[in-house]
Amino acid sequence: MSELMTTTYSMWRLFRNCRMACKWRYIDELVPLERDPNLAFGSVIHDCLECWHGERDLAKVLDHIDRTYPNRAQDDHQQADWHLARAMMSAYAEHYPAEKFEVVALEKTFEGPIVNPATGAMSRSFILAGKVDGIVRQDGQYFLLEHKTASQIDASYLERLWTDFQIILYAWYLEQTLGITVSGIIYNVLVKAKLRQGKGETETEFEARRADLIAKSKTGKSSAKRKLPEDDDTFQQRLQEKYLEPGMFHREVLYISRDQFEELRAELWELSKAMLDARRRNTFYRNTSYCFQYGRPCAYFQLCRSGGNPNVIENHFQRIAPHEELRDGAGEDAAPVF
Ligand code: SF4
Repeated sequence: MSELMTTTYSMWRLFRNCRMACKWRYIDELVPLERDPNLAFGSVIHDCLECWHGERDLAKVLDHIDRTYPNRAQDDHQQADWHLARAMMSAYAEHYPAEKFEVVALEKTFEGPIVNPATGAMSRSFILAGKVDGIVRQDGQYFLLEHKTASQIDASYLERLWTDFQIILYAWYLEQTLGITVSGIIYNVLVKAKLRQGKGETETEFEARRADLIAKSKTGKSSAKRKLPEDDDTFQQRLQEKYLEPGMFHREVLYISRDQFEELRAELWELSKAMLDARRRNTFYRNTSYCFQYGRPCAYFQLCRSGGNPNVIENHFQRIAPHEELRDGAGEDAAPVF
């Protein structure tokens, strides 16, 4: 019997979207050297939420944030994320001083067979593994807690949650593993404030602005002063005030229809058969409609365009074993490179 390959929903989703991308990541184990900063931030917030829901100790959460961004004094990206994470988590703790639910488990991992729902036969090639942000109990029912960071929450964002089949499939696996019935998903959405710390003006910028004001002034004078950079305390205060506005935190509960379990398990079985065939014949075809799916090139665009040139691999990619999201301390956001 061949060795069972551990798979995740992220892998199957990528296989469905572009088989070549799936091969680059899960068979060749390639990850771009430059990672998406949005995913990195989401991962930090997942860690913070795990800490907060586990111990409800804000000082500990803020300390974790401080330690995550050690070079913030020299690195503008670190500084921006540090501010945002601190403001977001401070405001979150204030926004939810108590919860209606009781935490049953956090960052719960599972592993189970991929089964042919028609016959009950288990795949001899693949198993499915995954991790959920939390399992909670509310009004006597179990729910999965799913954290999301979003740029904004609007009707279309909430509509799209319906397409989040990963978590529904995970609910089925957790039911099998833990012997519980999962009623639905509580989506815990945190909005990323778009405020930026004021950088102030350089001497040249100030002189240009001042000259412009003088040219427009009837007196030929201007009392304009050079804009100074916004200090950390003022910016942090401004961010925290932003988080007092409505709509920065949202909880959406979606109930699971049991029919979805059967459909998703059947789809997973079909994907596993297609993967076996692709692996056997080494035919991972490209889906070029997916190359610019999120308004930016796919993480493997350069590699695909070069025809898999080894120099591109050497200079722009590193090899990292798949399923980083299953390792301790990694949120689901650590998974995709798209
Ligand atoms: S660049 Fe396009 S074809 Fe290549 S892996 Fe990405 S999505 Fe697939």
